Amino acid sequence: MTSNLQNNLIAKEEVYGAKNYSPLPIVLNRGEGVYLWDVDGNKYLDMMSAYSAVSHGHSHPELIKVLTDQAKKLSISSRAFYTEPFAEYIEKLSKISNFESVLPMNTGAEAVETAIKAARRWGYFTKGIQKDCAEIIVAEGNFHGRTTTIVGFSSEEEYKKGFGPFANGFVEAEYCRSNCDCSKVCEKSITSIKNALNKNTCAVLVEPIQGEGGIITPQSGWLRQLRDLCNENNVLLILDEIQSGLGRTGKLFAFEHEGIKPDGLILGKALGGGLLPVSAFLSSKEVMSHFNPGSHGSTFGGNPLAARVASKALDLLFEDNLIENSKVMGSYLKAQLSEMKYSFIKEIRGKGLWIGVELDSTISAKKICLSLMKEGILAKETHQSVIRFAPPLVIKKDEIDWALKKIDKVFQKYE
Ligand SMILES: *Cc1c(COP(=O)(O)O)cnc(C)c1O
Repeated sequence: MTSNLQNNLIAKEEVYGAKNYSPLPIVLNRGEGVYLWDVDGNKYLDMMSAYSAVSHGHSHPELIKVLTDQAKKLSISSRAFYTEPFAEYIEKLSKISNFESVLPMNTGAEAVETAIKAARRWGYFTKGIQKDCAEIIVAEGNFHGRTTTIVGFSSEEEYKKGFGPFANGFVEAEYCRSNCDCSKVCEKSITSIKNALNKNTCAVLVEPIQGEGGIITPQSGWLRQLRDLCNENNVLLILDEIQSGLGRTGKLFAFEHEGIKPDGLILGKALGGGLLPVSAFLSSKEVMSHFNPGSHGSTFGGNPLAARVASKALDLLFEDNLIENSKVMGSYLKAQLSEMKYSFIKEIRGKGLWIGVELDSTISAKKICLSLMKEGILAKETHQSVIRFAPPLVIKKDEIDWALKKIDKVFQKYE
């Protein structure tokens, strides 16, 4: 199946690269819309979108135009100076999101670190927590990135082993799992968050849906209860919407499903239009006021090239109708997948074009992904037992129908 050309390139990566990933054996060199091509010219439907970073589709012509135009004018100047694209971009992001203030970063993990710094300063300077005592409540099964601080509060041993010592000030509470035994809103989770709250708590930091954790979708009402708990205890609610935000779940932000608004919002991935790493932390003027010159920064954060691309990426969410398409195509894909009755499928969950198929222990999600690849579909497992389907938000019904036939064919083979 894999050609010599591909094998040679894979071998080079094996020789010269650190082995911190376990990629599917395929070497890509082109992307357009929902499709990817390998170096031998074979075509694949992308149902993974670079972990939701490519919501707009590969090489979106309007984003490429903005990218190349801006690259010819000014790309990097640093924030030692004001730039035109940055001013326009943060005004747009603030107005679209309804958050007063924006702090730009590049990768998701950096924006999470920014949120942690903001929450701690707010805790000390507004709430009056004693020096170095601030605590942030995080959820079991969280994924917020790969810095040493962030992996320090992960519950995944694989992410942490050998990387300590870790930072203090993070307390783990239970997440609301749709498949837990609680009848309505997950009482186990709410109780454990209540128990973790104390006078030193400055923030609760969670994903509205846990992506890397396995597309874990909390029961409706959970996030609203969390909002109330944070209000009652004078604690910031900070949502990591790096993966769930910008239309992925069929709303601009996943928190809209619950009719709440967090105090801090972390964005990344699709914000870069599938072309550049662009992330941001958003909050109120009050929370953001605790950053002063010298307290935080990034050489590349908010650069003119990234700002122009992100600005256009935001426009296109509406111009290309990506949010609505995610909702409509997502519920279609989920409904059709749910029609497939195979003994090894435990649960199908998710919102919008972000669907997890959980398999039982008799079958490996990675093997299914390999079989899907042979049928021309690129998907990636998470946590050994979950296949994630998260195609670019531009996907059309006939493309989904084609994928469904192939998925069904692969599932049949394993039944
Ligand atoms: C991907 C992701 C991150 C980390 O983003 P990077 O750009 O890889 O640093 C953080 N939080 C969530 C929810 C993510 O999905």
